[in-house]
Amino acid sequence: MAQIIDGKKISAAVKAEVAAGVAALKERGIETGLAVVLVGDDPASRVYVNNKKKACALCGIRSFEYTLPAETKEEELLALVGKLNADPAVNGILVQLPLPPQIDEQKVIAAIAPEKDVDAFTEGNVGRIMIGDYHFLPCTPAGCMTLIDSTGVSVDGKNCVVVGRSNIVGKPMAMLLLHRNGTVTICHSHTKNLAEICSQADILVSAVGKAGFITAPMVKEGAVVIDVGMNRNAEGKLCGDVDFEAVEKKAGFITPVPGGVGPMTIAMLMRNTLTAAKLQNGVE
Ligand code: NDP
Repeated sequence: MAQIIDGKKISAAVKAEVAAGVAALKERGIETGLAVVLVGDDPASRVYVNNKKKACALCGIRSFEYTLPAETKEEELLALVGKLNADPAVNGILVQLPLPPQIDEQKVIAAIAPEKDVDAFTEGNVGRIMIGDYHFLPCTPAGCMTLIDSTGVSVDGKNCVVVGRSNIVGKPMAMLLLHRNGTVTICHSHTKNLAEICSQADILVSAVGKAGFITAPMVKEGAVVIDVGMNRNAEGKLCGDVDFEAVEKKAGFITPVPGGVGPMTIAMLMRNTLTAAKLQNGVE
């Protein structure tokens, strides 16, 4: 039976560490601030933004929320990003994705000052991850790495399989595992023999977005299984990509959904905001 990796507990410890760092900056007269921009009224995005606000309050980070109507024009959003780039009270800028169709997401991301890009989505920060010289790691893959580390299993020399190749999860996840000397395979919708490849993984990360996608025969006995997926099952209940009940019996370690990767993503955002505040104020 797998050991459950408790993302709630681990993320609470990360947030406590961040809170201590934020308090230490405050003693030196430095406030830490995060701007969160939400365009439109997507209910899931609203939930994410509220959770980020709550985490800021817990960590002592000032949060500046901007809620813009769904019909906001691209130039209006770009103007707001420009204003936030220039505001010294704002150390980090997060534009909640997805954006409405009239707005070019890449253009908006590119407009964020790299030193305030706490999601690590700008081209420069993505490039820095590639060469292994970075200030910020994208929040979800960084959270997954912390969860893997919590198991005590070393990535060095292990077979690592990442299912999914998105720019925000799959690709950077693979890169982080590679930096730790894992032997990494990235699978996607064109992969042949996906089940067989997964079944050889010592560390399996699934970021597909399909409930029940990873079944027990696809998992190696004793593997570390990290489930990034956030889906609704037939009953409308939140679930991951992994058939948890069956895989739990076979894996060595497994993350639940909810309570696994999700809370870690927010904790890493808090950590990146603190890092940004330190960098912008020349604090080691
Ligand atoms: P994307 O939709 O951008 O990427 C999904 C990936 O899965 C693609 O690379 C796609 O392949 C691959 N895929 C889809 N179907 C198959 C298949 N049948 N076989 C193999 N590969 C397949 O999603 P994201 O990366 O943004 O997110 C993935 C999941 O993680 C979602 O459920 C999302 O909600 C969740 N998520 C959770 C977060 C958290 O904090 N817990 C944060 C971010 C995301 P191809 O490229 O070939 O199309």
